[in-house]
Amino acid sequence: MVLDNLGSSLRGSLDKLQGKSRLSEEDVEEIVKEIQRSLLSADVDVSLVMDLSSSIKERATEEEPPGGTSARDHVLKIVYEELVDLIGESTDIPLEPQTIMLAGLQGSGKTTTAAKMAWWFSKKGLRPAVIQTDTFRPGAYDQAKQMCERAEVDFYGDPEGEDPVQIARDGLEATDDADVHIVDTAGRHALEDSLIDEIEEIEGVVQPDLSLLVLDAAIGQGAKEQAREFDDSVGIGGVVITKLDGTAKGGGALTAVNETDSSISFLGTGETVQDIERFEPNGFISRLLGMGDLKQLSERVERAMAETQEGDDDWDPEDIMKGSFTLKDMQKQMEAMNNMGPLDQVLDMIPGLGGGLKDQLPDDAMDVTQDRMRSFDVIMDSMTDEELENPRIIGAARVERISKGSGQDEELVRELLQQHKMMERTLKQFQGMGDGDMQRMMKKMQN
Ligand code: GDP
Repeated sequence: MVLDNLGSSLRGSLDKLQGKSRLSEEDVEEIVKEIQRSLLSADVDVSLVMDLSSSIKERATEEEPPGGTSARDHVLKIVYEELVDLIGESTDIPLEPQTIMLAGLQGSGKTTTAAKMAWWFSKKGLRPAVIQTDTFRPGAYDQAKQMCERAEVDFYGDPEGEDPVQIARDGLEATDDADVHIVDTAGRHALEDSLIDEIEEIEGVVQPDLSLLVLDAAIGQGAKEQAREFDDSVGIGGVVITKLDGTAKGGGALTAVNETDSSISFLGTGETVQDIERFEPNGFISRLLGMGDLKQLSERVERAMAETQEGDDDWDPEDIMKGSFTLKDMQKQMEAMNNMGPLDQVLDMIPGLGGGLKDQLPDDAMDVTQDRMRSFDVIMDSMTDEELENPRIIGAARVERISKGSGQDEELVRELLQQHKMMERTLKQFQGMGDGDMQRMMKKMQN
């Protein structure tokens, strides 16, 4: 996660303020130093760091915390507001027909992002098409084609073609039915005149409504020069930060946003087509500071539920709230969790649980949980429908058979049954709750 270190070290300093109602000068100094250290180690441009830390310092010293606010919450609020201010609004991406061109160096994640964005638009009810003009990188055509098939979106490319400008022209014509055109361009290892000439020519043909610069989150100070070059040649209207799942940095991307006077549009958080998020400054900073991101979480839950339900008309998640909770429901729930993406990303979005809890977990805890889910899934595949619908009938003999059939320890089969019982009991409690109780619980989660 971008600036992850900032999140955890800042939470550390903020926790030291617990119980205090006023900030001393030393407290402010310490927090500002912590922020500077984390931002610099995340490759944020020095001048940006200085600007940010001086405004935080000024506000923390001069502003009176509103009555009843603890010193910790007061500082948290200031840091939150200043960071949101630094990152700015998200790029405006209207849900209407348009042409978007992607620019960036080779390996930044352009091709992947093109397919992800097309998937995102298609989920919003539009008909996108990806046009692949990268004739420079061998394999770009196949990669783009495969990802677009997975995303179930239109695709145009020409594996034999040598002239990217001609491909762009033909592509627009061939995908005339689509309403959103996403044009992927070639990259190079470094900024070269030929790259800039080529992208300018493509831009002339495509006439994009928006050009996005795709940047790997791990990019450091080089971001500034790249951003300036691309901005001078085609005008950058927004930045996509990719590979946020694999780095603790990301500061370079912030520098690029500042340099092009643009904003962040999308975040890439993995290698599959679904691993894309629309950038939301408030949610993003909240997550960073360990305050959770309910909006993103509920979007993911909704999407995951819809995906899990697809093609299985017999299963309706609503039934769980009404009546019994079977093993089949549990299997579906696990599938839904899988569809939500890696657990550690999901945890980051849960208010109160976010970074703080994650910091306390051993690094491999998430893998263990996911391994366990996979084993449970294999076990359930070895059960009969009758057993899945009515786990109570599973006695010792059946446990032995299921264990043999699935190749998993009997112990694990019993653990699964135990887990199911526990979930069933918890759900029973939910079913007894009125709406007011539910709201109280959500409130508690947010605090
Ligand atoms: P391009 O040369 O700019 O078109 O870059 P690609 O789209 O081919 O991406 C380069 C590599 O980065 C590929 O192996 C992608 O799978 C990987 N990649 C792209 N975006 C992400 C992301 O958000 N997370 C991760 N983990 N990998 C990514």
